[in-house]
Amino acid sequence: MSHTASPANGQTASDVAGHIVLIAPLSGPVVLLADVPDPVFSGGMFGDGIGVDPLEGKLVAPCDGVVTHIARTGHAATIVTAEGAEVLLHIGIDTVALNGKGFAPMVEQGAQVRAGDVLIEFDQDIVACSAPSLVSVIAIANSDAFEIIERSSTGGTLKAGETPLLVLRARDGAAAVIARGASAVTEEARRQVTLTHAGGLHARPAARVREAARGFDARVEVRFNGRKAPVESVVGLLGLGAGEGATVEILGLGAQAAAAVEAVANELLREAHGEHEEKPARQISPAPQAFGVAATDATTSAVAGASGVASTSAAAASNAAASALAPNTLAGVCAAPGVAVGKLVRWDDADIVPPEQADGTPASESRRLDKAIAAVDAELNSTVRDASQRGAVGAAGIFTVHRVLLEDPTLVDAARDLISLGKSAGFAWREAIRAQIAVLADVEDALLAERAADLRDISKRVLRALGLANTTARELPDEAVLAADEFTPSDLSSLDRTRVTALVMARGGATSHASIIARQLGLPALVAMGDALHLIAEDTQVVVDATNGRLEYAPSARDVERARNECRRLAGVRETNRRASHQVAATSDGRGIEVASNIATLDDAKTAVDNGADAVGLLRTELLFIHRQAAPTVDEHRQSYQAIVDALAGRTAIIRTLDVGADKEVDYLTLPPEPNPALGLRGIRLAQVRPDLLEDQLRGLLAVQPVGAVRILLPMVTDAGELVRLRRRIDELAREAGRAERVEVGVMIEVPSAALLADQLAQHADFLSIGTNDLTQYTLAMDRCQPDLAAQADGLHPAVLRLVDATVRGAQKHGKWVGVCGALAGDPLAVPLLVGLGVTELSVDPPSVPAIKARVRKLDYQQCRQRAQDALALDSAQAVRTASRAHWPLD
Ligand code: PEP
Ligand code: MG
Repeated sequence: MSHTASPANGQTASDVAGHIVLIAPLSGPVVLLADVPDPVFSGGMFGDGIGVDPLEGKLVAPCDGVVTHIARTGHAATIVTAEGAEVLLHIGIDTVALNGKGFAPMVEQGAQVRAGDVLIEFDQDIVACSAPSLVSVIAIANSDAFEIIERSSTGGTLKAGETPLLVLRARDGAAAVIARGASAVTEEARRQVTLTHAGGLHARPAARVREAARGFDARVEVRFNGRKAPVESVVGLLGLGAGEGATVEILGLGAQAAAAVEAVANELLREAHGEHEEKPARQISPAPQAFGVAATDATTSAVAGASGVASTSAAAASNAAASALAPNTLAGVCAAPGVAVGKLVRWDDADIVPPEQADGTPASESRRLDKAIAAVDAELNSTVRDASQRGAVGAAGIFTVHRVLLEDPTLVDAARDLISLGKSAGFAWREAIRAQIAVLADVEDALLAERAADLRDISKRVLRALGLANTTARELPDEAVLAADEFTPSDLSSLDRTRVTALVMARGGATSHASIIARQLGLPALVAMGDALHLIAEDTQVVVDATNGRLEYAPSARDVERARNECRRLAGVRETNRRASHQVAATSDGRGIEVASNIATLDDAKTAVDNGADAVGLLRTELLFIHRQAAPTVDEHRQSYQAIVDALAGRTAIIRTLDVGADKEVDYLTLPPEPNPALGLRGIRLAQVRPDLLEDQLRGLLAVQPVGAVRILLPMVTDAGELVRLRRRIDELAREAGRAERVEVGVMIEVPSAALLADQLAQHADFLSIGTNDLTQYTLAMDRCQPDLAAQADGLHPAVLRLVDATVRGAQKHGKWVGVCGALAGDPLAVPLLVGLGVTELSVDPPSVPAIKARVRKLDYQQCRQRAQDALALDSAQAVRTASRAHWPLD
């Protein structure tokens, strides 16, 4: 290579043609990038570059620039040149695992260095003995903006600081970017401050100090007791262990160093002069805490009948109209009705164990982590906003600190280091947090110990946002009321149902899948309770009145007695309904309504039969295989469905083909990331990318005996074209399987287009089944899992009812029947209206069958017809609910 570096005069970064020459940062033979023994590098995932097998333990700067990153563990550094090229220098393979052993960084993050300056010294023996390889990598992290136009050839031996190694050129159109922090250092400032306020440099002042330094063209760090931390890292600042009375040094470098140091010092002194953090209570127990307490109106709250089946959205409506709650009470949205008394058990406190190795590339894992952090940040932002609006300063403070921790560079960089080594985003994040908790554990300060709890909290939030759940089996007390941010279907499928009396969630919606499962389990459940739920201490006694959307913590003995009496009364009503549950249901004027069950497992099928279900109206097959690591084979499909059909003892089963995507994920299927998964490849659309999954399932379904016991239901159909293609394929597969009879195929009506085109669909379908959960979501444009919208995402909205009406009219043109399998079918206020609109099948969760049959028997069909038409003219879901309650009071 022709370019000659001249490190001595520090002019190496670019030549006249705008090329950037990098000199060898290590001495030793060149290794081609493709030969670096780590696919992360050899695959170019870190960008284009070159390897060196080092013969000396010294890494020098390959160019002038700013050190924008020095790994916490000292094994890697990034330098950004004045032109904006980002040069990553990574010593050895898997060396992050050495946790700093053998590495001695010689410069600090943010330092301006010249080509040839020593960046890191390392002990070759230690590293060679502990790491898989010493081969080191020089990669251009922004290879999209800079290309390597020349590189040292193999064969020769490089001399660190002398031999030219790579020549870079900005790609056409790529603007030369001066990297963050690359401004020339023109000033240095120092100042000492003694922390006189209680608690010393704990989280709140740390967060304020960080804010104070923002916007200055300077890098500021705080030093104490031989330790130092960049001011933007709250975790680092906490790790200094600078308690009350400590004297810290503030050091600034950069054009505005003096001003930045001044601002930081003032902030610390301001804290010292009495503007202390009022320490927020972390838990509600047993004293009431005015945080997160939504309100409800006693006059609108009596929405559930003695039937034991409440309107899931009715409680939501009552919350929306809320005004004031009793003390010690939190409001939520009813996801499954009922009343329960028990001890609060924080389900989220169990450890989540993420897989260590990543499925995807480091780049995709990094993106997943970014996405999860952004989601948690948005969640916390709205919590802080709500708390501030209510004047709950303490709570707002806690969650503000959590937001700051979430973007802490110490944590995020450590996680990225691990991701670059092939670890999964969840594992990397958890390990980064653990390392910081260990640092805090060494600092003797009670307030800092509390920060460890904050770190654990954000760790869990991010892991949950990554879709990970706690799978550890837990010892539960009798009468456990399980509390979680939001249960996942897999959490609930492994619950000990004999000990759990209720489920309460900070997030979620009444039609989210956790709610559906809660109803299937017959457990009272509340969702969308907000973060206040997390402040109730473990073991606190609570009364859950899910029907009316309320949770009372630390109740009086009288309240507990009253709740237990209500439980008994409801049990009596359930018993009466149960005795008649095995008879078919018809209105008083003789219109027969099939009351079927929604199920997800073989156990559910048995419960459905025990509860008197006439049939299975919806088998959600994705939940049947949720724990699996590989897609089920044809035979596994067949066996699972056969077992369910056998358990139904002659009743028919409507089996829905796989409906994964959006809020339903299965382990064995990694779907391509989508910006808007609810509008993406879900339901039947999945066949566009994985036709094999659908084919295997259909083959399994078509092999079930006796022929005719199974009807196939297709989810998320948009129009007749899709249906006709699938119908044709099903008929072909049936012929291949030697089936002479035609299999019945139905269509889910869950998107407005399907409801509007119901007549076209009914021409080719044997029946239509309305999925009101999704139909409501897509009609009202309200995410079914968005807790803030849980009260408004009500299936009794007249717009949704008009689509139900359109569906029935469309089906009637071709003499086809219409059922409802969304949650609305199990809502006692909705039942008369659905029957009145012409629906002839209601498919509900197994425990609801007896009560829904009892409800149907009390109706007059002709009256329902008239009143349903009137309801279509109303202007809100609440108006519909009020009218329904007036015409058909709940028991
Ligand atoms: C629905 O959308 O109403 C439905 C029954 O399907 P799922 O809840 O499984 O999406
Ligand atoms: Mg659906």
